[in-house]
Amino acid sequence: MNTDFLKDLNPAQRKAAEAIKGPVLILAGPGSGKTRVITYRIAYLVRTVGINPHRILAVTFTNKAAREMRERLEKLLFGSVKDMTLGTFHAICAGILRKDGEAIGIHPEFVIFDADDQEKLLKQASIDAKVDPKQFPAPKIAAAISQAKSQMVTPEKFKETGKNYFDEIVGRVYERYEKMLSQNNAVDFDDLLLKTVFLFKRKPEILKRYQDRYVHIMVDEFQDTNLVQYELVKLLAGGHRNIAVVGDPDQSIYSWRAADLRNVFNFEKDFPDAQIHYLEQNYRSTAKILETASNIIADNRTRKGIKLWTENEPGEPVCLIEAYNEQEEAQMVVRETERLTGSKKFRLNDIAVMYRTNAQSRALEEAFIRYGVPYKLVAGTRFYERREVKDLIAYFRLIHNPADSVSLMRIINMPPRGLGDKSILEMQSWAKQHDISLFEALEQSSTGVDKPPLAARALASFDIFYKLIRGFIAESKTLPILELFDHVLEKSGYSTYLKAQPDGEERLENIAELRTVAEPFNSLLPGDALSPFLESVSLVSDVDNLDETEGGVTLITLHQAKGLEFPAVFMVGLEEGVLPHFRSFDDPAQMEEERRLCYVGVTRAKRRLYLLRAFRRSLMGGSTVNEPSRFLASIPAHLTTATAAREEPVKPLIPLQKKLYDYAERPAQPTIPSAPIGGGIARTHVKATPPAFKTGDQVKHAVFGDGVVISTLPVKDDTEVVVAFKTAGLKKLLLSFARLEKT
Ligand code: ATP
Ligand code: MG
Repeated sequence: MNTDFLKDLNPAQRKAAEAIKGPVLILAGPGSGKTRVITYRIAYLVRTVGINPHRILAVTFTNKAAREMRERLEKLLFGSVKDMTLGTFHAICAGILRKDGEAIGIHPEFVIFDADDQEKLLKQASIDAKVDPKQFPAPKIAAAISQAKSQMVTPEKFKETGKNYFDEIVGRVYERYEKMLSQNNAVDFDDLLLKTVFLFKRKPEILKRYQDRYVHIMVDEFQDTNLVQYELVKLLAGGHRNIAVVGDPDQSIYSWRAADLRNVFNFEKDFPDAQIHYLEQNYRSTAKILETASNIIADNRTRKGIKLWTENEPGEPVCLIEAYNEQEEAQMVVRETERLTGSKKFRLNDIAVMYRTNAQSRALEEAFIRYGVPYKLVAGTRFYERREVKDLIAYFRLIHNPADSVSLMRIINMPPRGLGDKSILEMQSWAKQHDISLFEALEQSSTGVDKPPLAARALASFDIFYKLIRGFIAESKTLPILELFDHVLEKSGYSTYLKAQPDGEERLENIAELRTVAEPFNSLLPGDALSPFLESVSLVSDVDNLDETEGGVTLITLHQAKGLEFPAVFMVGLEEGVLPHFRSFDDPAQMEEERRLCYVGVTRAKRRLYLLRAFRRSLMGGSTVNEPSRFLASIPAHLTTATAAREEPVKPLIPLQKKLYDYAERPAQPTIPSAPIGGGIARTHVKATPPAFKTGDQVKHAVFGDGVVISTLPVKDDTEVVVAFKTAGLKKLLLSFARLEKT
């Protein structure tokens, strides 16, 4: 038996990888090799035990993680592992439903609706259910429906168990929404999981086929599975019962998406014969970073108490930086980035900046752009959210599935074909009266079977559109996908339309980018390519925008950073109200989740960690003065240093177009020097009414010394004072914090 490659594992990891009989629970902290164990376990199964990859199912949290695991496996196994089922729950379920969904009435050519499509459908469903979308906005209803679906609550059950008026409203919309999804041959993201569970429950013979096939099942990041996902795992593992799940309860950060930490604890109950393995050695981070992380998470109460140690060197202290505001914070990140890469010890790709909310990326992006430092943003599904990208995808979806009325509505007048809203509404209600899809209505109207009562001009426009799509449908069966792509773009008039737009060039570039997404499918037979192309487009999750080949600093939310690692990490916004998020203030369970989120961020770092905060922050319209994050208070002072290495300020590569600050001429040091943060929260709010100051007043500051007031400006609940200090230079201070004295 060939087991040479297992020498890459330590004894505990190796034991876990080789425990291939029966249920196995691997509980271990960050960086201890959980993902590595799964990968090697698969290699062991195939290479040593001789299991056919076809009989293996492995679930990862993101598509990116699946890709990485596949690449790793191909190296370990010297060849392709195409036959293995490896992907996210959503991708795996999409595959099962395409193959077997028909047994519960799901059309094999179903489309997957994303959040945007879903919102449109919900608006329509609300109107139909006589619910005012202004009073009950679609995103709110969408969240309630998603929550219900992840707990496997059907519209009927929802209606029965509703507790209040809002539930009643949601129940009404939910019912209508489900009908509309099926009329559109569509499923939403939650459905992918839910319908697969329904399929398995209603058709035991189909479930049996999958149970027989998958001799070995593995799930990474098990702590962030939801109820439906766990149900799926239990169903699939019901045959051979060789199921290994790995997770870290301290890294459970998706409860807002109905992930349920209790799954980890229930696993032991549901599989009482489960072996439990612990991995305790961390290979990722320096000892100081690991100790920082351990101290932060130690303050949570609900823990399994997983141990973690490392043989790695102590490394540099964790750097705590306080900036005046979010612009200075961003500037410090960029400068330090330049210093790190200038030292040649780090490349841009080695560095990540992590934040709590997407909105925080704006200030960072601005600084990176101003300083000319390349960065890549892993925010939202940005590319796929662009209008032109969505428009073109809507064409392909409609060609693929003419019953998809949401896509049809998106492009019926895009590019503009002279169809007024009124005519479109008429056509819609005519379709509804006849109980046919919108596309069928166009067909009947065009072929003259029956015509809606519309002006001849409108009918002619509908007719042109119908024939256009019909033509594309025919072409989709005969042309390779790239040719079809070009035809759709040209013949629909969309490219001409885009060219005439002020930002047309940029938007055409995005279309070109979408074309490259279709490229790998060009070798497939005409007719076979559209479905996998659309599927790959629907399933791109946020982290999939990350392109390792391109050099640049990664800007990423803490949630998206899960499972990843970077040699250097900057975490910004370590302030009360930001991290922890203010919404968690009066909910102890949520506060624990915020702490776990902080822990996840800290444990992404291999060699360098920077924790930044701003004294004053403008975020999403408001401006606040925030206390340092309570999580900083958990870090012992001996692990940290409070000064950024800014002795040798780096010149920006691109000269600043305008000043970053109105107080820029000051020496490069924190505006307000911080007391040691590790020992406790540094600054306390002074409640006493501060004395009034006016321009020209001579003042004294405890740290900056003597100075003179240059200006005063009343701000919300406070006064901003600019003081020219004799030695420290110009400083902008908030009066209530500054403890200035008149001299
Ligand atoms: P997370 O909880 O963050 O997902 P993890 O437990 O999945 O972490 P891995 O990502 O598998 O940890 O491993 C962390 C790092 O340590 C990786 O770079 C991995 O290659 C390395 N590593 C793990 N085990 C070993 C080992 N036995 N020898 C050398 N390197 C190892
Ligand atoms: Mg992992």
